[in-house]
Amino acid sequence: MQTHKKIAVVGSGLVGTLLAIYLKKRGHTVHVFDRSPDIRKINFTGRSINLVLSDRGIKALKDVGLDKEVLGIGIPVEKRAIHTGVDTVNEQFYGKDGEVIYSLSRGLLNKKMVDLAEKAGVEFFFGEKVWDVDLTTATISIGESERGEWVTHDYDITFGADGAFSRIRHKMQRQSMFNYSQEFLNIGYKELNIPANADGSHKLDKNSLHIWPRGNYMLMALANLDGSFTCTLFMPHDGENSFESLQTKEQLVDFFANHFPDTKEVIPNLVEDFFKNPTSYLVTMKCFPWTFSDKVALIGDACHAIVPFYGHGMNAGFEDITVLEEMMDKYGDDWANLLNDYENSRKPNADAIAELSYRNFMEMSSKTADANFLLQKKIEKWFSDKHPELWVPLYSRVTFSHQPYAEALAIGDRQNEIMQEILQMENIHQNWNSEAVENKILELLKV
Ligand SMILES: Cc1cc2nc3c(=O)[nH]c(=O)nc-3n(C[C@H](O)[C@H](O)[C@H](O)COP(=O)(O)OP(=O)(O)OC[C@H]3O[C@@H](n4cnc5c(N)ncnc54)[C@H](O)[C@@H]3O)c2cc1C
Repeated sequence: MQTHKKIAVVGSGLVGTLLAIYLKKRGHTVHVFDRSPDIRKINFTGRSINLVLSDRGIKALKDVGLDKEVLGIGIPVEKRAIHTGVDTVNEQFYGKDGEVIYSLSRGLLNKKMVDLAEKAGVEFFFGEKVWDVDLTTATISIGESERGEWVTHDYDITFGADGAFSRIRHKMQRQSMFNYSQEFLNIGYKELNIPANADGSHKLDKNSLHIWPRGNYMLMALANLDGSFTCTLFMPHDGENSFESLQTKEQLVDFFANHFPDTKEVIPNLVEDFFKNPTSYLVTMKCFPWTFSDKVALIGDACHAIVPFYGHGMNAGFEDITVLEEMMDKYGDDWANLLNDYENSRKPNADAIAELSYRNFMEMSSKTADANFLLQKKIEKWFSDKHPELWVPLYSRVTFSHQPYAEALAIGDRQNEIMQEILQMENIHQNWNSEAVENKILELLKV
């Protein structure tokens, strides 16, 4: 049991809304502020950005009984479909039978989360820009502009769930001993669209995450409920094969004809979408500490924004909430120790998923088309099926388990070292599933 507090959550994104539901369920008074209008009243036309929900996120939803409702608006995705050339598609299943991740429209999910939070008794204040927080009192200041008049609201605790460019974090950054780093990737992204067939069906297999890996750039597609796919083109901002190099309609059409010829039929509005949709940036943001005394705490992208290549930003933010909930059970009203344990327990794991996400760009864009990498995956799967207790592949540890990300990363690194030795064995392409390979892995696992 906790004494009921008056709590502000800044940000009604995916993490802020779920956090608000958890806090409300504990009996606290919860007010959520967002600078944007109510997402439920915005008409989404055209673009629909989607994301992938996996076990960590599902657990956080399940623990408050919301998993079924949310999965009801998702499409199960069981494998990667790798488009290596015209009409050549290799399939890589993500996990064991029945292990899937879910493709969800971000807009639909956010609307649903706000609805569910409101149903739980959370109060929302939209169109309210939070400019400041007093770290010693948790009082927030709201106003039209940074230099205009502000109105203050008093709270017992304020959570900053206000995303990668968090204003609450901005205030914490002004303290000494606050560490902060922000690194932009030279890879940007642009959304494109594969519309549904005339009868509403999908043009590609909807239960696959489609990837067209091409070295330092790639195209990806995830299915939507309405029969369409959202595609994301990831490529360098400048240099050869970059956004900068695609300035004219002719350059774009030539580029797609040369590098993604099999998309010609399925992306009819390529030119229009490409020049209409913005090119967006990708950033990794790290900071520490995440909390101030028993008054202010950061959560989700506000304290750990990562690049999207593992599909874990939201999942990691949802897992922050699972850990916070454990700390609420453990510490009750001792919010200072509760928040301290929360940040110390989460920080190494947030750093680990940042690293894994960064590395996964190379895996998705280059290695998925590399013969040695595909062989490595085949051997890992074969060995793991034979010895499930000895070998859980890294992707499964990260996506289908709740093992701390930092542990998953460390074990994954060791497994990779072992596999590099295995790949050096003579005639490995022929003997990949031989007794000799099995024995060698068993021997290396003992070291
Ligand atoms: C291309 C791309 C693909 C991705 N794919 C995946 C995926 O497949 N799976 C996954 O798990 N994650 C994915 N992510 C990451 C995921 O989108 C984020 O981790 C997640 O949205 C973070 O949620 P959040 O609630 O912390 O922050 P946000 O979603 O950024 O929400 C922050 C909220 O705070 C509000 N706000 C900001 N400042 C203020 C202020 N001063 N006052 C009031 N309100 C404010 C904003 O309006 C917003 O509503 C992807 C990200 C990108 C860019």
